[in-house]
Order: sequence, then C-alpha cells, then structure tokens
Amino acid sequence: MFELTEEQQMFQEVVRSFCEKELAPVVEDLDEARILPYDLCRRMTDALGMGDIVRAGLEARADKLDNGSKEAKKSTGRTGFGGGDPMIGSILVKELARYAPGFAMSWGASLGLCGAAIATKGNAEQIRNYAIPVMTFEKIGAWGLTEPSAGSDAFGSMKSVARPSGDDFILNGTKTFITNAPHADVFVVYAKIDRGQPKDEQPVHSFILERGMEGLSTGKPFKKMGMKDSPTGEIVMEDVRVPKDNLLGTEKDNIRSAAKESLGNERSGLAPMVWGIIERSYELSLQYAKEREQFGKPIAEFQAIQLKLANMFILLENVKNIVFRLAWMSKSGKKDFAFICASKAYCSQAAVVATLDAIAIHGGYGYMQEYSVEKLMRDAKLLEIGAGTTDINLLQTARLELGIKQ
Ligand SMILES: Cc1cc2nc3c(=O)[nH]c(=O)nc-3n(C[C@H](O)[C@H](O)[C@H](O)COP(=O)(O)OP(=O)(O)OC[C@H]3O[C@@H](n4cnc5c(N)ncnc54)[C@H](O)[C@@H]3O)c2cc1C
Repeated sequence: MFELTEEQQMFQEVVRSFCEKELAPVVEDLDEARILPYDLCRRMTDALGMGDIVRAGLEARADKLDNGSKEAKKSTGRTGFGGGDPMIGSILVKELARYAPGFAMSWGASLGLCGAAIATKGNAEQIRNYAIPVMTFEKIGAWGLTEPSAGSDAFGSMKSVARPSGDDFILNGTKTFITNAPHADVFVVYAKIDRGQPKDEQPVHSFILERGMEGLSTGKPFKKMGMKDSPTGEIVMEDVRVPKDNLLGTEKDNIRSAAKESLGNERSGLAPMVWGIIERSYELSLQYAKEREQFGKPIAEFQAIQLKLANMFILLENVKNIVFRLAWMSKSGKKDFAFICASKAYCSQAAVVATLDAIAIHGGYGYMQEYSVEKLMRDAKLLEIGAGTTDINLLQTARLELGIKQ
C-alpha cells in the first residue's frame, strides 16, 4: 500500500518526462506571468490521453442520467481517468508540483473544483455543456466560494444573492481570491437564494455562469507572494440574469454537503502537491549539501545540516503516507472529514517547514530565484491559507472529534 505499483511508476515516468520537457523550461516564464498556464494544461491533457478518456466517461454518465439511472445520480461523477485509481491523479499533481505548484493549482481548480462540481452535481445537459469542455480543457473553469468579507465563514457571511425572476435568477455579489477567475470561461459560484426570507434562512446554492453573460466581469490578476503561475482574481456579478437551468443540482439539494465534498476534494488534493514540493526540495537539498563545501568539507558532514535533512525526510515520508491513505479512502468510499482536515493542516505546515529547511541548507543561494527552493517556499505558504487556513482545519478536526456542531 505504501509503494507505487509498477503501473503507477510507469505513469509517474511518463508525467515526469512531460514535465522535464515541457514544464521545467517555462517555469520562470510562468512565475513571472509572461505566459499563462492554460495552453500547457491543454497540451498535457492531450499528451496524457486524458481528454478522450474524460469525455467518454462523462458522456456515459450523461447518458445514464438521461435514462434516469439511480446509480448515476448517487455516484460521484468520476471520469474514468486512471482506471478508477485515485493514485494516478495524485501522482500527476505531485509531479507537476515538483516544478510549478501554481500550475498544478490552476489545473486542479479548473478540473477538480469547477469541472468536478458540475460532473458530480450537474444534470446530463450541464455535464455535456460545461463539465466536458472544462474537464478536457477546451474551456477554463473557476470555482467561487470566497468573498471579500466571507472567507473562513464562507457560508454564514456570504453576501452574494440570487433573486428569482420569472424563469431566471438575478445574481449580485463579488467573489475574491478565485483561482483562474481572470481567464476562466465557466464559473461555479455560490449565492444565497433570496425569496424575501430573513438572511440567515436563505439557502446557499451554486450556479453555473459563463463569461459573456451581461453583468458578469472579472478583475485583473492579483499580484501575489507565490503561486504566481496561477492567476487569481475577482468575479463581479451585477444583475447577472442566469437561467434556472444553470442552477447546479436542485433547490432541494443540501448544498452545504456538496460544498463540503468540494472542499474535501480540494483539501485532499493539496497533499499530493505537498509531496511534490517536499520531494523536490529534499532532493535539491541532499545534492547541494554534498556539493557545497565550507571549512574544507561538504556541509553534509555538519550535524546541523544532517538534522535538517532528517527533518525533511520525516516530513516527506509522512506526507507520502497520507497521500496513500487519502487515495485508499477515496477508492474505498470511506468518508473521514476529520482525517482530511487534519492531513490538510499537517501537510501544508510540513510544506512550509521543509521548504524553509531547504532554503537554510542552501544558505544565500537558497534566497536567490535561480535556485528552485526559493519559489517552492513562496508557493508552499499559500497551502496554509487556501482551502481553509491551518487554524480552521485544526479547529474543524477537533470539533469533529469532540462531536461539536460545526
Ligand atoms: C492564491 C489563492 C487562491 C485561492 N483560490 C480560491 C478559489 O479558487 N476559490 C475560492 O472560493 N477561494 C479561493 N481562495 C480563498 C481561500 O480559500 C481563503 O483565502 C481562505 O479560506 C481564508 O479566508 P480569508 O482569506 O478571508 O481569511 P479570514 O477568514 O479573514 O481569516 C483571517 C485569519 O483569521 C483566522 N480565523 C478566521 N476565523 C477564525 C475562527 N473561527 N477561529 C480562529 N481563527 C479564525 C484565520 O485562520 C486567519 O488566520 C484562494 C486564496 C488564495 C490566497
């Protein structure tokens, strides 16, 4: 269970070779935002043969939903990529994050958040019109929950509203910090349905929006500390008229549990990213410690350096084990939100600690952009904030374990 199978190793080699040829040479251009990640996302989808598999899987799901299949309604909308092995997706994210965690984030937000939300909760028409183009990267997706004054308390403090108007909803509100928003074609956004009832009784639902709808706009990409290869921005909705058919799921659905599922996917998806970040930081640090000499010997011979390497090794192995367990949970359908929150908190902190260790081992060179550990540390810090901060994930873990209502 804790080793990659032969098939998984082969897939890892294919992805690594793609990353070395296609991603590594443009990491600096992506980090300086001279190029966007999306063309490469498309090329990767083609190179790995993902597009055809995903399309066939989702078309089959849409057909089953058309035929009223109860089994399709209950299932999670998996696309068939990786032959049902969740480790395949984890390996892909891990390999991308070795070079460009932000690239992995943009890819994951489009496919794993926006696309997967539609594939899982959408009806046959929504799957054909939106999930397939997003998940095959013909279109770029964004998933908008956070608002300027609603972050950790995303549901309670939500101000975005959807007011029924004939056969449509009129949406107003602003989403912020949304990955891919500046360039996305398709948006899944959350809003409270306002039928005149008090604010705290308005149910939250998600809607599918498309660029070009009147009143829908996105801001310029924000300037950020890290994850610069992943554009982040605002979604502004000013009287956007959205057909009722663009409501994701039905008004009867428990959207909190659907959003929890999306958050659970996002939180679980960060662990493979951390695996990639720490694995590469560790490899670079081992190599540097053996090559760099001070006081007439390689710095690897100093115990202070050895302790840092040992610490990185422990973090790497723990994160790897967590990824294997999360994949096992996903495959066996085991739901354990406390474990997901705890592992998100652990892995994101591990990424920051390990990348800071890597910089320390590299000394002044570690602070220079030319050495990859500088970028990996800047990128790692986001993982402690996105998908719920470390504190929020720790608090959720404790409350779940204590049986306190969330
Ligand atoms: C680069 C980037 C990409 C992102 N991508 C997306 C995306 O694609 N879609 C999306 O919807 N969102 C996205 N986010 C938003 C992200 O999920 C939020 O930033 C995060 O949930 C924190 O919310 P906040 O920034 O409003 O912080 P706040 O909620 O204001 O928190 C500020 C501080 O207060 C603490 N705090 C808050 N409440 C409590 C409490 N009850 N107890 C203890 N401490 C508390 C927090 O831990 C934190 O330290 C992204 C963010 C970034 C930076």
